[in-house]
Amino acid sequence: MNSSLNAARRSRELAEAGDLVVDVLVVGLGATGAGAALDAASRGLSVAAIDAHDLAFGTSRWSSKMIHGGLRYLAKGQVKVAHESAVERGLLLRHTAPHLVRAQPYLLPLTPAVSGGQAATVMTGYRLGDGLRMAARTPRRLLPGPSRISAGRALSLAAPLSPSGLRGALLSWDGRLVDDARLVVALARTAASRGARILTRCRALELAGDGARVRDELTGSTFAIRARTVVNATGVWAAQLDPDIRMRPSRGTHLVLRPETLPGLRAGLHVPIPGESNRFVLVLPQPDGRVYVGLTDEPVAGPVPDVPQAPEEDVAFLLGVLNSVLGVPLGRQDVAGTYAGLRPLLAAGGRTADLSREHALLTSGSGVVTVVGGKLTTYRRMAEDAVDRVVALGRLGAGGSRTARLPLVGAGAVQEAGTVPDWLRARYGSEAGAVRALMAEDPELAEPLPTGITRAELVWAVRHEGALDVDDLLDRRTRIGLVPEDRAAALPAARAALAY
Ligand SMILES: Cc1cc2nc3c(=O)[nH]c(=O)nc-3n(C[C@H](O)[C@H](O)[C@H](O)COP(=O)(O)OP(=O)(O)OC[C@H]3O[C@@H](n4cnc5c(N)ncnc54)[C@H](O)[C@@H]3O)c2cc1C
Repeated sequence: MNSSLNAARRSRELAEAGDLVVDVLVVGLGATGAGAALDAASRGLSVAAIDAHDLAFGTSRWSSKMIHGGLRYLAKGQVKVAHESAVERGLLLRHTAPHLVRAQPYLLPLTPAVSGGQAATVMTGYRLGDGLRMAARTPRRLLPGPSRISAGRALSLAAPLSPSGLRGALLSWDGRLVDDARLVVALARTAASRGARILTRCRALELAGDGARVRDELTGSTFAIRARTVVNATGVWAAQLDPDIRMRPSRGTHLVLRPETLPGLRAGLHVPIPGESNRFVLVLPQPDGRVYVGLTDEPVAGPVPDVPQAPEEDVAFLLGVLNSVLGVPLGRQDVAGTYAGLRPLLAAGGRTADLSREHALLTSGSGVVTVVGGKLTTYRRMAEDAVDRVVALGRLGAGGSRTARLPLVGAGAVQEAGTVPDWLRARYGSEAGAVRALMAEDPELAEPLPTGITRAELVWAVRHEGALDVDDLLDRRTRIGLVPEDRAAALPAARAALAY
């Protein structure tokens, strides 16, 4: 089946949805829900998957875009979870999304604030992390091991570092996504290619074990989707659909810097937080040249907003830590944009959860299975566990998960490799040739917008990636919208792409 998502397909599948009884209804199309839709569809089950807004509308687009090897879990003694994370990273790098996940080098600058003892402890951690890589059988050619490098080499990889008192740096490697929202889009499209009905702008108003009452957010009409089993993958909003669940969200904020703000930054940075032995601010160079600086960890109470905002105290904190290692400190005016996300953490003391992993599965009295917590990195494992649970609950008679070796849309070999520019290949993998063909048809579509995105990519997103409006185009299919000025500049092009 075709993997293209667009307004016409949505209308067609929405019109059929009320007459169906699907094997699995998935609610929420972040990484977890899109992963669950793919897991179920690839086992041969019939699937409908809905989101109140858009693909990747929630936390999944506000991450640090890292595919973690599990070192942080090892530090907490959670060996099984750490190993699972390293295995999932390896699967993404080798089999399922090699076009979307790359190795990223990170430097921990050895400034006078980092003692020799602290550096030795961190290096021991990095070596254990490399052991996890080996245990997960991820080859070193994909993810090199850690090393200590000289101050000169550190400055060649990260020119904005202050040379004053720099003794060198610890170099380590981890996985990084081209973009988190693109991972979700690839998951949803791969699920669609296996027959899953992917319906955005459809809000679940009420859930039960045999389906949901749903509102089409574009028309306001309500209808029922009947299902043999239901997965609630609404992340930080999960408690709104199952009042027995209690969430304790925590806010993580990132700064967005323009490419020219930290010139010569070729590696990410782990910047030690002054006064803390094992916490770091991350400096994350992106493929589009922008740099993200994150992140905070602040518990938040009260209603969960659709789009969390970054408070000024988070911005000041991140700038302060970043400036502790820069040669030329940055000011508030250098911060071109900010974003914040809420970690979907489960509150302790709620209904008994299967917390054997960092994620949890909870089954409500009516049989709805909620899957919550975890990380972007482990979305596939979360999806597999959730679908295993509903297959057993609904006696669906499907086999085990097939997603560990199932390449996502774009993962294959690039056609006409010689003629496709690297930047296009890095975002579209095997589909890059088709995006380029659009530009060849109409040279105006080759015109670059802020961050180098072309008009052709916006048209592609409307035709194949399920973008329905300018917000989908600027805030999720591309990340132009992370810098408000860039967003305003690209708005006319986004409107034109919808009408193209
Ligand atoms: C700041 C920050 C940085 C992070 N960095 C990383 C990282 O670098 N690496 C990593 O592995 N993990 C990271 N994480 C964790 C990771 O981002 C999350 O665990 C993951 O994205 C959660 O995905 P999800 O699909 O469960 O939830 P979400 O992405 O929030 O998806 C839930 C979806 O449900 C939809 N929804 C809600 N209510 C309804 C309803 N009633 N009907 C229909 N749909 C509904 C929403 O619109 C949303 O699209 C980070 C988290 C944060 C907050």
